[in-house]
Amino acid sequence: MPNRPFIVGNWKMNGIRAMLSEARSIDRGAARHPDVRVGIAPPFTLVLPMAEDMQAAVIGAQDCHAKPSGAFTGDISAPMLADAGAQFVIVGHSERRAMHAEGNAEVRAKGDAALAAGLEVIVCVGETEAERDAGNAESVVTGQVADSIPLGEEVASRVTVAYEPVWAIGTGRVPSVADVGAMHRAIRAKILEIYGEGGAAVRILYGGSVNAGNADELLAADEVGGALVGGASLAADSFLAIVTAASGAGGE
Ligand code: PEP
Repeated sequence: MPNRPFIVGNWKMNGIRAMLSEARSIDRGAARHPDVRVGIAPPFTLVLPMAEDMQAAVIGAQDCHAKPSGAFTGDISAPMLADAGAQFVIVGHSERRAMHAEGNAEVRAKGDAALAAGLEVIVCVGETEAERDAGNAESVVTGQVADSIPLGEEVASRVTVAYEPVWAIGTGRVPSVADVGAMHRAIRAKILEIYGEGGAAVRILYGGSVNAGNADELLAADEVGGALVGGASLAADSFLAIVTAASGAGGE
């Protein structure tokens, strides 16, 4: 199991060049915690300037198209992101699944495209509140893992899974530590089923309202290898507090 936690900031549709100074502050903080891998996924327009600027943090994108080029107005391909200096791409975020009707097959195709372009991929999965209330959270999430992650044991070391309960994103609500641990154990079992022993190398991040106050306990839950952070990643102070918590946690 990878033991260097990965803390990733998802800036969503936030950030203009004036925010580059915030990213520089995050980068300086990341340099003080070499035991933590720090990533930022800004909007597409900031991938290149951030990638050129960062010393310690790695830069990624929030989505890519499944095709390398072509008549897809408004889309960005994985080779374009790699060319701009991205090292990873997030695919299957619940906002894309819900607002852009992306299903598991499309998410897998995007992940495959990212790997083919030499990028790492973070595949997001997570249940809605209705699915949890109906007692289906684990089957929904492990089903998404089975149908969305890129296949082939040889790619496992470049795949990260982010468990993000939809009802916890941007709401200030988080599952109990026990529920996070139980879900991460179920995801690990599914990943091992898919990749074999190579699945032990896959980090499983928790995402959904992670902040400075709850990071310690969430990062200490079973099989949690880091965090995907939305709102709290937009300011260096709040994001670095999470990085510091991960540093203290010393890994999974
Ligand atoms: C996210 O959207 O990936 C996320 C985790 O958001 P937040 O931290 O704001 O809940």
